[in-house]
Amino acid sequence: VTRKTVWIGTNWKMNKGPAEALAAAEALKAYRAPDGVKPFIITPFTSLQAVASVLKGADVLVGAQNMHWEESGSWTGEISPGMVKECGADIVLIGHSERRQHFAETDWTVSRKMSAALRHGLRPLLCIGESLEEYDFGVTAETLSRQLKIALHDVAHADLPNILIAYEPVWAIGAGGRAADTDCVAKVHAGLRAVLCEIAGKDIGDRVPLLYGGSVTQDNARSYVSQPNVDGVFVGRAGWSVPDFEKLIDRVI
Ligand code: PEP
Repeated sequence: VTRKTVWIGTNWKMNKGPAEALAAAEALKAYRAPDGVKPFIITPFTSLQAVASVLKGADVLVGAQNMHWEESGSWTGEISPGMVKECGADIVLIGHSERRQHFAETDWTVSRKMSAALRHGLRPLLCIGESLEEYDFGVTAETLSRQLKIALHDVAHADLPNILIAYEPVWAIGAGGRAADTDCVAKVHAGLRAVLCEIAGKDIGDRVPLLYGGSVTQDNARSYVSQPNVDGVFVGRAGWSVPDFEKLIDRVI
């Protein structure tokens, strides 16, 4: 498979209020991505509209960190797919491990959100990953296959090339995490590719972008992206400052 596009994104998590986010967006506005690279930033809800309006038409795509699956209703504290779309987002994160761990998101809710995002013209970025316990018990492949099959259950096969999937082992994410070995990522991604081909056939399965995330840095990013079946990286900390994010992209290419 010829790799056409390398996706490089950062999840701001619960960082950057409206003023700081706007300053970052202004700084990114003139950024010209290298050929074949699609950079994106995933902002908190309170910054989404302002950031998306500054970056409208820019090289850097903008996304939200979560959404509900219903259009509207009695869901206090939630944001609907239509609201995310109206704010100008291109992408929406679905099932980040911090949401699964701390906010009780399940494969079932993730599945509902995937089809809702696509119905609203948003590009879902599905996060999957095994916990440290699952890794230690040797059930990584089974865990990821289950997460993937449930999340994609109601997604039309033709829509699959329009989604993004990030493999983010829970034990690799955040300050306490350690980056996964590139060999291990290559093996896991080959397995994910096989599951996607099993679900939707080889033509479609081969075209779904698979990103790696978890303690990616400027120093190790390139080693992941040079693996077969790794179509980009998804970072947290390494992308929170705009100059760092731009440097990370330069070092991958
Ligand atoms: C993440 O939370 O998606 C992530 C990859 O975080 P970090 O890069 O900081 O480990």
